[in-house]
Amino acid sequence: MARGEPIATIDDVEGAYVPEAHLTGGPVIDAHVHLFPAGVLAAIWRWFDEHAWRVRYRLSAEEVVEFLAARGVARFVALHYAHKPGIARFLNDFVREVASAHRDRVIPLGTVFPGEPDAAAIVRDALRDLAGIKLHCHVQKMAADDPRLDEVYALCQDAGKPIVIHSGREPASPAYGVDTRALCGADQIDRVLERFPRLTMVVPHLGADEFVEYEALLAKHEHLFLDTTMAVAGFFGADAPAEMLTRNGDRILYGTDFPNLPYAWDRELARLVARPFDEATRRKLFSGNALRVFER
Ligand SMILES: [Zn+2]
Repeated sequence: MARGEPIATIDDVEGAYVPEAHLTGGPVIDAHVHLFPAGVLAAIWRWFDEHAWRVRYRLSAEEVVEFLAARGVARFVALHYAHKPGIARFLNDFVREVASAHRDRVIPLGTVFPGEPDAAAIVRDALRDLAGIKLHCHVQKMAADDPRLDEVYALCQDAGKPIVIHSGREPASPAYGVDTRALCGADQIDRVLERFPRLTMVVPHLGADEFVEYEALLAKHEHLFLDTTMAVAGFFGADAPAEMLTRNGDRILYGTDFPNLPYAWDRELARLVARPFDEATRRKLFSGNALRVFER
């Protein structure tokens, strides 16, 4: 995958609607969508434009809900992350409010900045009504087995709610201010799940770019899941191997990173439905596994 150099947007044609149900096995749930308040979102877009790619969909949270609903995406998992201490409650309240206006469409997760003074209380509050906790090793500059995360993992495990953690080494950028390839490694997730064997965890991007290592972890840890976000788009140099999805139909969730995309909203959806999956795998990939993970 390219690192450091801004990558051009792909000007591909978008579909008007999700593919027919026989191709998706039923409703489509996007397990990886970002909702942020307007000011934070503007800062994120500036960052992407400068360091990663030009964001194609400059949509507010409300517009994201409308956009996906209009195209037949039945529901989506709303993720955000705190890039510094002191803002997690604000972000969690924001997503709570959007989700409460769209209960049938939005599955909201909370966040916390690990090690911030009231981290445990923030997580406890979030887990009362939000569907889990999202963490991001690059933005939050931490390893997945950082001891500050122990309380977060323990609270999620006890509550029976999932952690979504961007723990893969890619997509990396020097602009994060940390060497993500030195900071992150699949072996850290292995250690965490050995210590928290009942914790449900979702690693985005199919664990990019340690696809082989993460597939081995799926075999070892029954509550580990991966999402497809940006890892099957043909956008970065190396997509995840196709067989990885066929072999692990019970454990992989369709996800996109919408709206912060450099290509069409349904690029990965179209590429996934073109693969020779059986109907049961389609149903699990596009909705079943997400419901297992997030609806508890
Ligand atoms: Zn994301």
